[in-house]
Amino acid sequence: MLEQKAAGTVTSGPASERVLPPYPEADLMHVVDLLPDGERERYVQIREFLQSHIRAASIDYWNREEFPFGLLAEMAGFGLGGLQTDGSSQLFKGLMYTEVARADVSLSALVGIHNELIVGMINELGSPEQKRKWLPGLQAFTQLGAFALTEPDHGSDIAGGLSTTARRDGGEWVISGAKRWIGAGTIADFALVWARDVSDGHVKGFIVETDRPGYSATKISNKIGLRIMQNADIVLEEVRIPASNLLPGATEFSRANDLLRDSRAWVGWQAAGIQLAAFDIARSYALERKQFGKELARFQLVQQQLADILGNANASLSMMVELARIQQAGKLQMVQAAMCKATTTRLARSSVAMGRSLLGGNGITTDYEMGKLFGDAEILYTYEGSYEINSMIVARAVTGKSAFV
Ligand SMILES: Cc1cc2nc3c(=O)[nH]c(=O)nc-3n(C[C@H](O)[C@H](O)[C@H](O)COP(=O)(O)OP(=O)(O)OC[C@H]3O[C@@H](n4cnc5c(N)ncnc54)[C@H](O)[C@@H]3O)c2cc1C
Repeated sequence: MLEQKAAGTVTSGPASERVLPPYPEADLMHVVDLLPDGERERYVQIREFLQSHIRAASIDYWNREEFPFGLLAEMAGFGLGGLQTDGSSQLFKGLMYTEVARADVSLSALVGIHNELIVGMINELGSPEQKRKWLPGLQAFTQLGAFALTEPDHGSDIAGGLSTTARRDGGEWVISGAKRWIGAGTIADFALVWARDVSDGHVKGFIVETDRPGYSATKISNKIGLRIMQNADIVLEEVRIPASNLLPGATEFSRANDLLRDSRAWVGWQAAGIQLAAFDIARSYALERKQFGKELARFQLVQQQLADILGNANASLSMMVELARIQQAGKLQMVQAAMCKATTTRLARSSVAMGRSLLGGNGITTDYEMGKLFGDAEILYTYEGSYEINSMIVARAVTGKSAFV
């Protein structure tokens, strides 16, 4: 087992405690053993890189709300821009999202949205010309797309309420409207904009290059989480794009359903990752910090919190492994994606709150990383459908009654 291999002999402390506990990596259920050999080696290699190069480096960027282009380039070298199309299993892809989130949640949002919603949409719904033009740069992470669905006046009700318009004018489309919260909106090469065709009322997907006249993006500052991700308010003022920028597979919103379902599920992997990170920090801190003359780890109430965080993290990870199993078999539906997203993010919120409290005052500052996780968990709880909306998707599926309106 990977975890047991990682354990070695310890250096100090009473003789009875001179062997490291067998689970310093927190994967008590040996989930990683489910990967086939080739993927397991790749997983170990990338995890090591994320832990040693990305995790500590991301904190300053998070504090400064700055995008780490250098770190992205390093991640590109490990193929993280091409997970969607490189033949990886669903489990491997999911565990990658978890490990990136364990290192930094914002970067995992970038990697996840990029693979699931940008590469995925162009690969599945794009024309041969669109694929030729965009996929190589996206897969290499030298180009970025932004997924532009949410609007200032429509969040949870976006599917029915979307008000950005698309008007056909000869060989062009003219896009007008506003989008809010759009990840990478200020740094992307193009935005995948969802707009309502005024002629037939259908919501369609368009590739809008960000250097087109009439496109403007303003960074949303002062966020309490996901601070590395450059979320933007986007205004589209009569933006003209060639007719060929319409995704031929996205001429109705429902055509994007499978990809939106998968991206909802992706948040569950992030929720597992943030909890593993919370466990890492809480465990180290409890072993180092002394009060009343002994390590915090010796107090029962602290042990309770450590066990709860670890239990939540493993419950989330195990749930996601089962999701990957049905996803790989082509059986994943929105109800399971919503259930896993809602449940794992609820647990994540609880885990980071325990972690924050376990660090006392030091849990308040990002210097000890836990404060960063505390803010980031709020985003997981809210985006890709809020906790409440996902819960209602689940309950509608089991009762046949909709509580949305
Ligand atoms: C950091 C961040 C990054 C994001 N990135 C992107 C992105 O890249 N692209 C993109 O398109 N969008 C993005 N989003 C948008 C995100 O998906 C929305 O914020 C989310 O869907 C919720 O919409 P809203 O914020 O408008 O909240 P609202 O829909 O206004 O909801 C407010 C509250 O009311 C509750 N509520 C709403 N309707 C009901 C109901 N019928 N019954 C019960 N409760 C209800 C909600 O659960 C929530 O608690 C991002 C958001 C954030 C915060």
